[in-house]
Amino acid sequence: MIAVQGIAVSPGIAMGKALVLHSEDMSVPRMNISEDQIPREIARFEDGLTKTRADLLGIRRKISQELGREHSDIFNAHLLILEDRTLIEDVIARIKEDRVNTEYAFSSVIQKYFQAFSRIDDEYLKERVADIKDIGRRILQNLMGHSKDVLSDLKEQVVIVSHDLSPSDTATMNREQVIGFATDIGGPTSHTAIMARSLEIPAVVGIEGISKDVATGDYLILDGTHGVVVVNPDRETIERYRLEERKYVELNRELTKLKDLKAETLDHHPVELSANIEFPDEIPSVIAHGAEGIGLYRTEYFYLNRSDLPTEEEQYQAYKKVAEQMSEQPVVVRTLDLGGDKFLSSIELPYEMNPFLGWRAIRFCLARVDIFKNQLRAILRASSHGKLKIMYPMISNLEELLNANQILEEARQELRKEGIPFDENLEVGAMIEIPSAALISHILAKEVDFFSIGTNDLIQYALAVDRVNEKIAYLYDPSHPAILQLIKMVIDNGHANNIWVGTCGEMCGDPVLAILLVGMGIDEMSTSPLVLPKVKKAIRSITLRQAREISEEAMKFSTGGNIKKFVAERLREIMPELIEHL
Ligand code: PEP
Ligand code: MG
Repeated sequence: MIAVQGIAVSPGIAMGKALVLHSEDMSVPRMNISEDQIPREIARFEDGLTKTRADLLGIRRKISQELGREHSDIFNAHLLILEDRTLIEDVIARIKEDRVNTEYAFSSVIQKYFQAFSRIDDEYLKERVADIKDIGRRILQNLMGHSKDVLSDLKEQVVIVSHDLSPSDTATMNREQVIGFATDIGGPTSHTAIMARSLEIPAVVGIEGISKDVATGDYLILDGTHGVVVVNPDRETIERYRLEERKYVELNRELTKLKDLKAETLDHHPVELSANIEFPDEIPSVIAHGAEGIGLYRTEYFYLNRSDLPTEEEQYQAYKKVAEQMSEQPVVVRTLDLGGDKFLSSIELPYEMNPFLGWRAIRFCLARVDIFKNQLRAILRASSHGKLKIMYPMISNLEELLNANQILEEARQELRKEGIPFDENLEVGAMIEIPSAALISHILAKEVDFFSIGTNDLIQYALAVDRVNEKIAYLYDPSHPAILQLIKMVIDNGHANNIWVGTCGEMCGDPVLAILLVGMGIDEMSTSPLVLPKVKKAIRSITLRQAREISEEAMKFSTGGNIKKFVAERLREIMPELIEHL
């Protein structure tokens, strides 16, 4: 049994078998099949071999033409392995006798060959090991397609262990069967972390080497609240965690009872509590956790996992569904926030050294007005079915905001001309997530109806700390005095211009930091539905006056660590139960 520590990003406890995904050598899940599925699995194996043979012949031809025969001859060895009767019969026997899926049967047979060849003390045969490895990977790729297919076709519950998970992996995976995530890299606001919270799946990120140290089939305990993963635990440890899990479920049940109560302080100061979503099918969870609206709908997920761009009509149907399901409650639809650690398969982007600082989000949309306007028209059309708002990501200067508003105005005029209805009073806002935008928020405030402070990025850009890099995660500090000053400045500038100011970063999901924001005067907070009840409980346990005093005092400290410690200590006096459980 070993226990490793990482960064806790999504609370809860998961216990089950590991499924390790390797980006380059692919991991293979074992699935048990019934007798009548045997012929289908054998046929899949034969198809996989045929396809691999065709691929290899194509490669051999190309190399022969470009580099000459002697270079292409190495593929003859690969082709021979592909035709090896013993290997083929071994795999078929496994499928029949062990009743397992093709990929698993093939992978275990090839491993056996691989080990046998590795042990032989002969230079020529040693070289064949690399061939076996290579051809084995090729066949597996053809059998499995892409790793995301493995994730969508899981037959048993697993804890996914991987170097990282791409947004497309998380978007396609079977959410019933994935009970936890553990990754080598990532920080609290990396997209793997955000997705895990959205999907309510316990997760730990930034555990260096976990994808190498754990093997598929190992039994894991993943404690997403404390950031610990225990590999092959003993009975006593399993029992201890079972007890913890029961306590966690109990606490959540208690908190969920607050669902229908208002998010207001003891002296009745309301704070709008909303939820962040990536997919429309998260709405039941939004409602179940008592959110008063959606403060951030990350629409870029709609563009993922497809070879073409979504049409205006498709987007309209999706946004309309969200608007209708939320009925009177507001939904802030953020326009396409492409880039950073979110890439779309349908759009070829040039390679960039610094994708977080690159051609992304509103910068991309202003350059591709066709894509941007399509989305704006779809949101406007859907606005006649509910209470939608539009929000632009990554605004860094006034010109970008004016340009975006100009394109929105064109979209409005087109729709008017076409006689298509939309909400003429739809609010338009800007995300404040770049320090330059915070510093000119008094200017930007004149052009919008609201601000939403994106602390995930604001922290990354203000402190120069890559939000997905676990090595510097210790520097990623929401309570850094510089961050608090920027936030306070945005809130004050917004209020001086009579607009409301919210935040949709993960920071407000921490009750201690949430109270700090309430004390600074924030009007709305939006975070993953999962953590909303805790935040609501904190808000309902304090007066606005107390929160203000705490924030004012906190701003006098010189370090983030001291600020957080001070606020936590004060809150421990005011709401001991809640702080105790965190
Ligand atoms: C943010 O940057 O704070 C934010 C909410 O947006 P995202 O996490 O999608 O970048
Ligand atoms: Mg952002």
